[in-house]
Amino acid sequence: ATMKDWKEFDRSKVYMADLESGLHYLLRVELASHHTLEGEELVAFKDFVTVVAKLFPGRQPVVKLLETLLEWLTSLPLEKIPYDAILDLVNNKMRISGLYLTDHVQWVSCQGSSMTLRGYPCSLWTLFHILTAQAAQRPDALANTALEDDPQAVLQTMRRYITTFFGCQECGKHFEAMAKESMNSVKSLDEAVLWLWRKHNQVNSRLAGAMSEDPVFPKTQWPTPDLCPTCHEEQNGLHVWKEDMVQVFLKKHYSAANISPKYSS
Ligand code: FAD
Repeated sequence: ATMKDWKEFDRSKVYMADLESGLHYLLRVELASHHTLEGEELVAFKDFVTVVAKLFPGRQPVVKLLETLLEWLTSLPLEKIPYDAILDLVNNKMRISGLYLTDHVQWVSCQGSSMTLRGYPCSLWTLFHILTAQAAQRPDALANTALEDDPQAVLQTMRRYITTFFGCQECGKHFEAMAKESMNSVKSLDEAVLWLWRKHNQVNSRLAGAMSEDPVFPKTQWPTPDLCPTCHEEQNGLHVWKEDMVQVFLKKHYSAANISPKYSS
């Protein structure tokens, strides 16, 4: 992006434009490299659609689209689904019935100082933080789905999505290694919120100073003290997180009420 297109935004907010742009990219770009979905891929995709249809606190037309996609996927007794059929549903049927998902990206808090930085991966992290926070707030949201009563439902769905579809395969390998190590020990929906936060900070610390870092958005241990003063403490001269405060902060930051509609057309 050039300075001309720079969008002012508030770092203490989440932007619907980033989340919708991410969903557009996921459904129309990332998935498009898979000609047909079958087996593990189909399961990974169905779980992803289940989780977003049930938990994404989106605008009504977008949620409706996700619900329609979920109904369609669960009503099809097929073992193989051509990607084109998914695209048709996302594009045509939706448009005719007025259920419409943006068809271009518009990054706001995920905008980068150049075209190749930030954007989609930033929106995917944001989306999954939102989904873990929503699941903790609405424990019954996944009732009557294949994912009900599982405190790891959102995390395991993210894990399957990332390892199966995420365009950055290197990232998928790193994430899978972290998941293998400790995801199975997550026992509650609250722990899931903190697990994802902790792992995201681990990724931030690994990537600080790397080529993929946007110099305008250096990787930090998040939330920084300006965003959440009570999340930080010093003990014997060492920084420690106050995890109960982080938990409260995450649920508030990634709540529906903190999503700004600004810039979403
Ligand atoms: P991001 O890290 O994308 O974060 C987006 C926003 O989330 C931040 O702006 C901040 O508001 C918030 N945030 C930051 N930290 C936290 C936290 N701990 N908890 C909650 N919210 C937070 N890139 C690589 O080069 N190598 C990899 O191995 C790699 N692995 C990845 C694995 C996954 C699962 C994903 C989704 C992405 C991965 N990426 C990897 C991409 C990388 O993590 C960043 O997404 C990308 O570099 C863009 O960084 P960003 O500055 O937009 O911030």
